Amino acid sequence: MNKNVILVYASAPGYPHGIIDPVEDIARCVSSWGCCLHVDACLGGFILPFIDDSQVEGMKKPKYGFEIPAVTSMSIDTHKYGCAHKGSSVVLYRSRSIRKFQYTAVTSWTGGMYISPSQPGSRSGALIAQTWAALNYFGYDGYAKMAKSIIKASLLLRKRISNIPQLELIGKDVTMIVAWKSADKDIDIYVVNDLLTDMGWHLSVLHSPPALHYCITSANVDSIELLVNDLLNVVTCAKSGKRNSKNSKAPIYGMANKMSNTGIVDDLLKDIQDSIDQA
Ligand SMILES: *Cc1c(COP(=O)(O)O)cnc(C)c1O
Repeated sequence: MNKNVILVYASAPGYPHGIIDPVEDIARCVSSWGCCLHVDACLGGFILPFIDDSQVEGMKKPKYGFEIPAVTSMSIDTHKYGCAHKGSSVVLYRSRSIRKFQYTAVTSWTGGMYISPSQPGSRSGALIAQTWAALNYFGYDGYAKMAKSIIKASLLLRKRISNIPQLELIGKDVTMIVAWKSADKDIDIYVVNDLLTDMGWHLSVLHSPPALHYCITSANVDSIELLVNDLLNVVTCAKSGKRNSKNSKAPIYGMANKMSNTGIVDDLLKDIQDSIDQA
């Protein structure tokens, strides 16, 4: 922290591991410094508030929002667990005076005075209407029901993975994300991913440390036992060196993970994007 810091942000939770940052602890540091604290609840905003504490043994819902006085803004994605279309999201501010910094006013334009509530300019009214419809369609009870089934599935997956000695869970928070790494030096988690991909699964690949995560949604809450069965098979195959995956990406992920020059990886990604555009 130095005098140039105007804002600190925390995640509730972060996408890679589903870990909820200790917002209260961060708030204590930030308060003494007197800068803004943004809480990124893009992913958690429609799940965390609806979690029933009694569902998770020993879990006390952490504080992460405006109930902490140092929190000055929050973001919550309606386009994720709010079940609205992409392109809609919410930023909440502690006060109108902070919100004003988001506005874009142009007074010297020859076309007249211009004021817009945000930087992107023209937005679609249809998105707002559609988001409003989604909020009303689900309502408090709908989101609570969704959160309950997602947390139930998350608890089940965490329990099953903790019983697989070759794997190790990352993070302790019970959220929609369950992340794990290899706990066995002979098992490359990216090979596990390749073999799961061959079976039709689509997991997120993480680095530093190499790991995988499963993001639980209403669409896949009933797939946990299926996933764990396949995972158990695949872990055995990966261990025995049976790596005949049809579409192996493990070497690429492994290489990107080891490269210290991130600039090269950055260029590589941009070239891949270019090649997609040409295709
Ligand atoms: C999705 C997400 C965001 C923002 O992504 P957009 O798709 O641009 O809204 C920010 N933080 C987290 C943790 C997210 O999951």
